Amino acid sequence: MKAVRIHGYHQQPVVDEVPEPTVKGPFDVVVKIGGAGVCRTDLHIIEGQWQAAMNPALPYTLGHENAGWVHEVGSAVTNVAVGDTVILHPLITDGVCRACRAGDDMHCVSASFPGLSHDGGMAEYLLTSARACVKLDPQTQPADVAALADAGITAYHAVRKAIPLLYPGTTAVVIGAGGLGHIGVQCLAALTATTIIVVDRNPDALKLAAQIGAHHTVTHGGQVDAVKELTGGRGANVVFDFVAEQGAESDGWAMTGEAGSYFVIGYGGELHIPTLDIISTERNVIGNIVGTYNDLAELMALAEAGRVTLHTKTYPLAAAADAFADLDAGRVRGRAILVP
Ligand SMILES: [Zn+2]
Repeated sequence: MKAVRIHGYHQQPVVDEVPEPTVKGPFDVVVKIGGAGVCRTDLHIIEGQWQAAMNPALPYTLGHENAGWVHEVGSAVTNVAVGDTVILHPLITDGVCRACRAGDDMHCVSASFPGLSHDGGMAEYLLTSARACVKLDPQTQPADVAALADAGITAYHAVRKAIPLLYPGTTAVVIGAGGLGHIGVQCLAALTATTIIVVDRNPDALKLAAQIGAHHTVTHGGQVDAVKELTGGRGANVVFDFVAEQGAESDGWAMTGEAGSYFVIGYGGELHIPTLDIISTERNVIGNIVGTYNDLAELMALAEAGRVTLHTKTYPLAAAADAFADLDAGRVRGRAILVP
């Protein structure tokens, strides 16, 4: 089968011919990929940013936002059958550790991460496990929803955690209305009554944000003051920072009001905050990494009800290099999806 593999850091991935994965363990599931999302994390992987954390053996197949159809199941798999349409939680988890039993799949002590720690889904087939499979309506087109598996779950998880903070009368800021951010805006609109302000440097991204739930949009140039003005000088109750690099992180902290929370979802930058600022204003910094299995299942219920729609641009697997280049150059509105 064809697979998009990384052979070395700081070099473009290559489409290789590799053997198809097969079921080995009783809970293994092989999925025929219908769509694999292209994520900024893939660019960060190529730059070597994840090497120390994941230490994958090279070459391996990229792709951690996957959906498709069940192709083969292990002997003990009962929750899905061959032919089922599925979206995949990004982690392969054991189901027996404390985190798994609490539902916190992303903190599983023996998790592996296809596309980061070993072969992912930018290929014709992917090996995963029964616990990762969320069964979908058979009408669902995997390419339409694949990016919800990582971009979507991550945005949903952050919004879901913030719901108690976003009672009516509050204000939330979304920094970055790209792949994750445009899902975050829709989740906020679907789950809360908060006033949504979206900050982005790209006018097209802001136009899309206004169509999908943003009450106010703010372009770059005086964005901190603009948010202050929209919040009566107080700042926002919650800031969701989907960028968190190149200065967005200091903007995000400055836009967060007293007793507010700054949710870090993007990454790459560094926060330098005087501890006096933290105690005197009781502001919080909240980390977010992917989400739980139930987060993904809930998000799919919203997607199947038409409350969250992914804006996508599809590329054949063989054109993976174009998708990476377009994402890197900011030419993708919403999410790039590879279709084998
Ligand atoms: Zn576990």
